[in-house]
Amino acid sequence: MDTAGFFDQGALIAVLTTQPLDRTLDYKAPEGGCFPGAYVEVPLGPRKVLGVVWGAGRGDFDLTKIRTVIRVLDVAPMRLEMREFLTRAADYTLTPMSAMLRLATRAPGLSDPPSMRKVFRLGQGEPERMTDARRRVLGALQEYGGLAFTLKELAEMAGVTASVVKGLVKYGAVVEHDSPRDTAFPPLDWTRSGKALTDEQTEAVHQLQASQQSRKYGTTLLKGVTGSGKTEVYLEAVAEALKMGRQALVLMPEIALTGEFLTRVQVRFGAQPAEWHSGVTLTERRRVWRMLGQGDAQLVVGARSALFLPFRDLGLIVVDEEHDTSYKQEDGVLYNARDMAVLRAAMCSARVVLASATPSLESWANAEAGKYERIELTSRFGAAVLPDMRAIDMRDEKMKAGTWVSPTLRKAVEARLERGEQAMLFINRRGYAPVTLCRACGQQIGCDHCDARLVEHRFLKRLMCHQCGETRPIPETCPSCGAEGRLAPVGPGIERLAEEAAALFPEARIATLSSDLFGSARALKAGIEKIAGGGADIIIGTQMVAKGHNFPLLTLVGVIDADLGLQGSDLRAAERTFQLMRQVAGRAGRAEKPGEALLQSFQPEHSVIRAILSGDEEGFWRAEAEGRRAAGVPPYGRMAGIILSGGDVGAVFDLGNALARNDFPLRQIGAEVYGPAPAPIARIRGRHRVRLLVKAPKGVALQAALARWIKPVKLKGDMRLSVDIDPQSFY
Ligand code: ADP
Ligand code: ZN
Repeated sequence: MDTAGFFDQGALIAVLTTQPLDRTLDYKAPEGGCFPGAYVEVPLGPRKVLGVVWGAGRGDFDLTKIRTVIRVLDVAPMRLEMREFLTRAADYTLTPMSAMLRLATRAPGLSDPPSMRKVFRLGQGEPERMTDARRRVLGALQEYGGLAFTLKELAEMAGVTASVVKGLVKYGAVVEHDSPRDTAFPPLDWTRSGKALTDEQTEAVHQLQASQQSRKYGTTLLKGVTGSGKTEVYLEAVAEALKMGRQALVLMPEIALTGEFLTRVQVRFGAQPAEWHSGVTLTERRRVWRMLGQGDAQLVVGARSALFLPFRDLGLIVVDEEHDTSYKQEDGVLYNARDMAVLRAAMCSARVVLASATPSLESWANAEAGKYERIELTSRFGAAVLPDMRAIDMRDEKMKAGTWVSPTLRKAVEARLERGEQAMLFINRRGYAPVTLCRACGQQIGCDHCDARLVEHRFLKRLMCHQCGETRPIPETCPSCGAEGRLAPVGPGIERLAEEAAALFPEARIATLSSDLFGSARALKAGIEKIAGGGADIIIGTQMVAKGHNFPLLTLVGVIDADLGLQGSDLRAAERTFQLMRQVAGRAGRAEKPGEALLQSFQPEHSVIRAILSGDEEGFWRAEAEGRRAAGVPPYGRMAGIILSGGDVGAVFDLGNALARNDFPLRQIGAEVYGPAPAPIARIRGRHRVRLLVKAPKGVALQAALARWIKPVKLKGDMRLSVDIDPQSFY
């Protein structure tokens, strides 16, 4: 990679393009020359493609055939640290550079010239005749001093039609001119005063800010019970970054959480930050991308892909709810945003704050080992105390078939209803029932394309495959034996639980919160706000309610099946259950009223359930860490998954077996291969999936060995191979 200043016209340069090639291509610098990192348009065959000037040309191509860069785009060049970040991230995840570049250029119209739009502001002229409508337009403009508005904005503000505004333009009372569409974000004012912090919070802020002032890379694990003020504390770290003239990024695991945070930023800094996630329009994405590069956006709140935005001087990355599994991208480029945040920060000398009430074992272990600083908030803000947690031993409860709320839990809910408080029933399963069974032939309805059962979604009146998303109407007759009216749902999902709750508590207002029941992120956000404000007596929720939403009136959380996550062979099953249960329980009693959490379990003596109830977190982590150390698995060893897939199951297994036999590059580093075995979900969208698991000691060059191992593989036909470093879910 070249850091040297400038390439003169005609100089040989290497360009990385977004095309799936495994190397940079040589071009000649265009008229006027270009800087390293410049975004360029280059000819490739008959097409024009986007690329970045990566350095000096390789010179291994016939010089007479080398073509010239078409043009340099009018955006800030990619910084050296970003090029280094992409390179390192590609090496870590064994991803081709072209795919990394695509991640870093996910904004539409980057090659378009800066686009303009018409805006309107107050002029000197006077209309011949003053009407009410005209007066309103001029009044609105006067009220906002020198500001200019689009035609639509202005007409809406004044409550007039567009023709009224245009009429005023004719007299010069309103003037029209062009202004760039991508405008700077309003500045965030860090000098405004924040909330008065508690002693513990103040101490945490001082420690964080001191480490920020070094302008060196470092990671802090900010651990604190739900409601202890982690967000307040990291907002002050954002303030410090802004004060230092640097930019900040706050990652959140779910879009629905960003709403509350935007409001808090507005209150603290007097303006809203930029947003980056799937709910943001394409034009807004383009604006965010461009403004960050030129330093006209100070703070981004967003999803994991925001890590690949072209910040000019990124000084702080906050990963909120850092343990959340949605930080692991499971599609395309397989990366864990938490790890990539640390890598990115190391490249640009930024501080990372990993915030969580229940950190991942990885982060806990890094703090234990002294690699991360650790700051702890131990008490909840104000009067809020942690809920009282107890198990309901389901072996002692009298349950009617097809019901899931025990008499004990029912009484607890009734007590809340009488007092006018909120109760939550939690089940981590979407849909109505996980299984639809034919009582005549005993067959379960499965997906035609996947090795998965179809889940009934009664609300949508369809059966749905949670693997591939395929849906079909709920059939009248059994697809296997043709018997009519014999299909029956088995087991509970959130919709069925809602039905049971409606029957048990007919007077209560019940709100069901599941990500698939809301049409859009905005509808979901509005739904959550309404419920938090008292719009429901009973909240029925899946995993998403566990994530950081505030429900001040909530005093009871009932977990329908606390054992659900304990089954299965997943390395992280215990950790996940522990985190999820503690998070859910943390929803109760966030304001003045104390909360209670009741966990329905058939095995309350299980060590994980006991640890959850006793609240002995350090004890749980130490035990879990010991087990993993003994087994040599992450974070005390390294793992990688290789998933082979294709339409022909025999061919996929043959390839898997060939890989397993030729494991010399892995044995060289002391790694072992397990498999091939059918992946836990052995078929998705008609493709058979086979998995090999690689287990290696910590500290070896795993990626390099993996690269050598899979290099000879020739993928024929529709066969695919993907590498997953540090697999999270064992699919
Ligand atoms: P966490 O991120 O740890 O869950 P929050 O920062 O969201 O905690 O704080 C929980 C609630 O308490 C929020 O409503 C927050 O505004 C409030 N809060 C926390 N600390 C303070 C403080 N020092 N002054 C006023 N309100 C606070
Ligand atoms: Zn399917």
